[in-house]
Amino acid sequence: MSEHVVHAAAPLDDDVRAQLAETVEHFNANHADTVLLVARHVAGAESATDAEIVDVDTLGATLTVRAGGHVVAGRVDFTEPVRSAAEVQQQVFAAIGRARAEAGDTVPTTSLERELVTTASLPTFVTEVSSVRTLTPELREIVLSGGLDDFPSLGADQFVFVMVPTAEAPIGEHYSMADWRVADPKPLGAYYTVRSYDPGAGSITLWAVLHGHDDGVGGWAAGCVPGDRVAIWGPREGMGVPSDARKLLVVTDTSGAAAAAAVVDELAAFPDVEVDVVIETADGAPLPFPSRTGLAVEWCARGEAESGTSGNLLAAVRRRDLDPSGLVVFGAGESREMTAIRRYLRGDVGMSATAVHAIAYWRRRPH
Ligand SMILES: Cc1cc2nc3c(=O)[nH]c(=O)nc-3n(C[C@H](O)[C@H](O)[C@H](O)COP(=O)(O)OP(=O)(O)OC[C@H]3O[C@@H](n4cnc5c(N)ncnc54)[C@H](O)[C@@H]3O)c2cc1C
Repeated sequence: MSEHVVHAAAPLDDDVRAQLAETVEHFNANHADTVLLVARHVAGAESATDAEIVDVDTLGATLTVRAGGHVVAGRVDFTEPVRSAAEVQQQVFAAIGRARAEAGDTVPTTSLERELVTTASLPTFVTEVSSVRTLTPELREIVLSGGLDDFPSLGADQFVFVMVPTAEAPIGEHYSMADWRVADPKPLGAYYTVRSYDPGAGSITLWAVLHGHDDGVGGWAAGCVPGDRVAIWGPREGMGVPSDARKLLVVTDTSGAAAAAAVVDELAAFPDVEVDVVIETADGAPLPFPSRTGLAVEWCARGEAESGTSGNLLAAVRRRDLDPSGLVVFGAGESREMTAIRRYLRGDVGMSATAVHAIAYWRRRPH
């Protein structure tokens, strides 16, 4: 006689939940269209117009779904119980596969599906630091050159994954993402915006926040010197400004200052778009920033508040009298601050998921 085992949903371990918080945030912020595809085709919410993942347990993910003016719950059941963040990720990708199989080719490919195809073929470049410059006590400009002549620049707002060797995890001259994936221990790694790419010099300029911790790529950035070897994987496109945008609001802390500047560069091709930028830095002093007609930049100071806790960015958004029509918002910064901004813009201002890109660039962790 066969025995049918029934599992009850249980909360995941606290560590796993903490790891997943960033992934869930990333899906909701950057891949709202993919979450919607899954809600419509797997989570029993065919008429959904908007969906967000709110919780993940051992047996599935719970969504809130907006459908016909109502907010209801949706549920993605996993095919087997999960315990780790990696298993959750596998189950989410499997759910996307099921949703796509059910939706067929008539439903447009979503952002995460496109990203999975793109990242499968991204190149890695081994390069080195050629110069460093202090922009402010919390921001260092790092120029990388050598081995970058074939860097496939995408234009304005693009980012790369920077891998930095450690004593236990070296980076050889032919290092690639394939090596990174299997390395144990791994080199340090984090995403950085390409502030600019100079094809003539074959160099890339980054702006790295010195976040006051010795560890991580930020710790390395604080002390790196010309000749230091790094590998970069990418580039990938950051915030692409939709061609029908009439007004762009950019809100960021120092980690997104390079991206904000790159977005303004990109808008040179759209002279009629009004651009309103809010940047929080430690002391509110301006950074080198592009200029254009129709651009307003508000620099605000974090003051005594710890990074990612001041609430300045949300307050600046709330102070504005925002008309959602033709408005696109790009936010970059600490995860919880970005969540608060996204909720306000979607819930109170009534902006659509596709017009709000409030992206978690980093997550504040107790040290
Ligand atoms: C698309 C994208 C583009 C980005 N572009 C840039 C960029 O141009 N410049 C840039 O500086 N960052 C950028 N970031 C953010 C950067 O990837 C994160 O800050 C990352 O956590 C740094 O990695 P780490 O190894 O130094 O620190 P981690 O190992 O992730 O964290 C170590 C400690 O530092 C803290 N911490 C991490 N980042 C910050 C921060 N910015 N401020 C205060 N404390 C912090 C963490 O809370 C933790 O306590 C970008 C992120 C994304 C997703």
